[in-house]
Amino acid sequence: MSSFEGVERRGLMFVLSSPSGAGKTTLTRMLIEEIADLRMSVSVTTRAPRPGEIDGKDYYFVDQAKFDQMVANDELLEWAKVFDNCYGTPKAPVEHALAAGHNVLFDIDWQGAQQLNSRAPSDVVSVFILPPSVQALEQRLHTRAQDSAEVIRGRMKKAGDEMSHFDAYDYVVVNDNIGIAFEAVKSILRAELLKLKRQVGMVAFVQKLRQQL
Ligand code: 5GP
Repeated sequence: MSSFEGVERRGLMFVLSSPSGAGKTTLTRMLIEEIADLRMSVSVTTRAPRPGEIDGKDYYFVDQAKFDQMVANDELLEWAKVFDNCYGTPKAPVEHALAAGHNVLFDIDWQGAQQLNSRAPSDVVSVFILPPSVQALEQRLHTRAQDSAEVIRGRMKKAGDEMSHFDAYDYVVVNDNIGIAFEAVKSILRAELLKLKRQVGMVAFVQKLRQQL
């Protein structure tokens, strides 16, 4: 059991990070659709919405003043500057979900993963998603067609920085094939949820079994 902010029954904090274009957003969507009891943490950001992005679903889009106010009011569990924009995880929804025994999925960068890890080391499981090659990464960024050529160049440059932090993660998955990568990420989540320390009722269950012998 963890001591995270004093609540005894905690769900798992499942963190996925990767350079943008490695398939992390697709994987998080697939996980949320398939795994019951997994809630997505919706971040706040100062970046402008991309075409098709919905406020409150993909992100909470806020201006810098509002973001600064959230930081000052200690409303964020973690936050970081990524590509000249600020991103952060609202604290309250995560705390409520965990306290209710749900597991929470985070699509955040290495700085955020590090901050969550230092806050709640025994509740965080982190996975780093790698692209199979630089060409694949570039192609995915172009195919996504959501960013300008200049932004894509910036993202490619940043990919190297992001990747240099892979060894701070619990697991690393190369996304060469989305179906195989999804199976790998699901296996990690399932195995972590089966850890004895996360099966809160297990001690009582075994005791009951033994009494019947
Ligand atoms: P994008 O602008 O492509 O949606 O996200 C850019 C990067 O910011 C991604 O690596 C994403 O994981 C990261 N990110 C998104 N939300 C958060 C957050 O709340 N905290 C941190 N630290 N990073 C985030």
